[in-house]
Amino acid sequence: MSLFVASLNSGSNGNCYYVGNDDEAILIDAGISCRETETRLKRLGLDIHKIKAIFISHEHADHISGVCVLVKKYNLPLYITPRTLQNSNILPCPEMIRNFDNAIPVVIGNLRILAFQKLHDAADPHSFVVSNGNVFVGVFTDIGAVCPQVIHHFKSCNAVFLESNYDEEMLETGHYPYHLKKRISGGKGHISNREAFNLFKEYKSKTLSHLFLSHLSNENNSPALVEKLFEKAAGETEIIIASRFKETALYNIKSAETTTITEVLRPEMAPYFPIKKSVRRIKVFKNEFQLSLFE
Ligand SMILES: [Zn+2]
Ligand SMILES: [Zn+2]
Repeated sequence: MSLFVASLNSGSNGNCYYVGNDDEAILIDAGISCRETETRLKRLGLDIHKIKAIFISHEHADHISGVCVLVKKYNLPLYITPRTLQNSNILPCPEMIRNFDNAIPVVIGNLRILAFQKLHDAADPHSFVVSNGNVFVGVFTDIGAVCPQVIHHFKSCNAVFLESNYDEEMLETGHYPYHLKKRISGGKGHISNREAFNLFKEYKSKTLSHLFLSHLSNENNSPALVEKLFEKAAGETEIIIASRFKETALYNIKSAETTTITEVLRPEMAPYFPIKKSVRRIKVFKNEFQLSLFE
């Protein structure tokens, strides 16, 4: 069992995350144009026709701006809560609208999509955990605060797209007006690098093979800062910074059993990541059975 994942874009200028297996896939949010979505999927060697649905986390423009064209052009079911739809300015084809409920999984082929509520200044915001058998991928951006639900799901995921929105000092001393600073850091906006890092440090499990730091602020953060912070505590987890300008490579996420093979797929299709071309790591976790046999 495995899941293929990529961020097509991540940040206040647009969010779109691809999660799929060999047969079907979904997009979490559609905040970049249909044309850019097509281009970036193609660069990753992904067939857009494998996408069976789009799930919307909340109504902010950076999560929905490309959705109507995508839904119409590819006849894609759009999973969105009634309150999110009401508070958005999108008008998708009514027959493509599907609802989802907090904590009630939606099944699409072999994919299971579980939504849970998050703290964010939107009408009815949700985070998602997508699973395929025993492989779990979380998409936790725009989360406002690290609530018990986030901690609970973070502990059991094999890969997580985790918001690391701002550096606290940069926000504090930056040029944003006071009300905007309050909105971002007030518990229903975004989480800081420190909050994301504390979650990672305290609750990462051995099953977490990949961490995608996501939704980085352009004004109050820098990819180098985030990378430096997380690298020192990375351990066995691969740290990836999701860009606000381009897609990440495509990653194959597998369950952490006795042997986990991690590789970057189709490096020739990901020209922005030449350094990854030769990456092929094999991680072997000893379990108790092995220990009793060999020690
Ligand atoms: Zn956002
Ligand atoms: Zn938002």
